[in-house]
Amino acid sequence: MTESDLQTHATEIHEQFSDQLDVSVEEIQDRLETLVNEYKVPTSEARRSVVNTYLDEAGMERDDLGGGGGNDRVDVSDIDSPEEWVDLTAKVVELWEPNSDAVAQVGLLGDETGTVKFTKWSKSDLSSLEEGEVYDLRNVVTDEYQGRFSVKLNRTTTIEHLDEEIDVGEDAVEIEGALVDIQSDSGLIKRCPEDDCTRVLQNGRCNEHGEVEGEFDLRIKAVIDDGNDVHEAILDRELTEELTEITLDEAQEMAMDALDTSVVADEMHKQILGRYYRITGPTYGRYVLADEVTRVDGPADPDAVLIKARSI
Ligand SMILES: [Zn+2]
Repeated sequence: MTESDLQTHATEIHEQFSDQLDVSVEEIQDRLETLVNEYKVPTSEARRSVVNTYLDEAGMERDDLGGGGGNDRVDVSDIDSPEEWVDLTAKVVELWEPNSDAVAQVGLLGDETGTVKFTKWSKSDLSSLEEGEVYDLRNVVTDEYQGRFSVKLNRTTTIEHLDEEIDVGEDAVEIEGALVDIQSDSGLIKRCPEDDCTRVLQNGRCNEHGEVEGEFDLRIKAVIDDGNDVHEAILDRELTEELTEITLDEAQEMAMDALDTSVVADEMHKQILGRYYRITGPTYGRYVLADEVTRVDGPADPDAVLIKARSI
């Protein structure tokens, strides 16, 4: 290990703490040299140890550490690995209720390429983000939990409000699991025929337009259990016909024969309940709006899945 290598490490560490601590590059280099040369500690180990010492001195967590400037400026959809220090411009799409005192704000950031969850720590002392506003965010760190990425705003993050508008892109999600339930107002439904309305009628009435002559349509509001969580997905007429092999015409005939539209949903239950599907599509509120549905292999015994799902 040459002295200049240690000097490089010392300079980088110095940059990370320059705002918080009054410490010189030479002092940091001395510490590194002692560990590496006298105690024969590997350089990476020495660096971690020295950084920990200064974290303690500054009362900071490792999460608070900046990358020392020169971050990549990324699009939301580029975020695909944890512990990267990045800059991004994004709109606050939603704010959620924090479920811990350690979190000041939590919600969804978005840009043209998609959305990503963000967490802003309470002790970061940063200004408040407002829903619908666009910000330039520098020095945020990426994180990953169960394959989903997020960004953390910490003490070293800078926030600049921008007077801009961003059209947040849809980002498709993928869920895979057992179809454990079909919600009411699935099957053969009637929609309001008024221009641009298409609301589903309840007892022949549209919430907006009152009593109208509805138009028949098919859809499924499916509950999918992926083993950890349940998700709700909405399948349009095309996907419903494909999955159940019941066309809109056939559904109307079935309903007419029975003088009851609910026979259609009953028949659909028999076709798809307990089967496994992979569903992709953008999210809207709590629903996944299915663009694509593929049948996948699940466990051999579908009844076991249903029993498990009901006992959650
Ligand atoms: Zn209407």
